Amino acid sequence: MSPSESCHHLLDSLSAYVDGELSEALCRELERHLADCEDCRVVIDTLKKTIELYRETIAEPEVPADVRARLFQRLKLEDYLD
Ligand SMILES: [Zn+2]
Repeated sequence: MSPSESCHHLLDSLSAYVDGELSEALCRELERHLADCEDCRVVIDTLKKTIELYRETIAEPEVPADVRARLFQRLKLEDYLD
């Protein structure tokens, strides 16, 4: 198997790996490959950073005050606004 074929095979599993959904056997295979393949290490680093950023955005949704006020008005909850 050429290196590029090996990378292609493993790249399909990368998102499952980052999510912790990959089987143990595949994790070990991927980690062995990552140990000697800088290209895939770069890909997985980028993917992890992207996912972390995405999770932070989901965890702390920024709802502007005016949007919140309109939403409360729509729901007839304006009396509860501080
Ligand atoms: Zn690779």
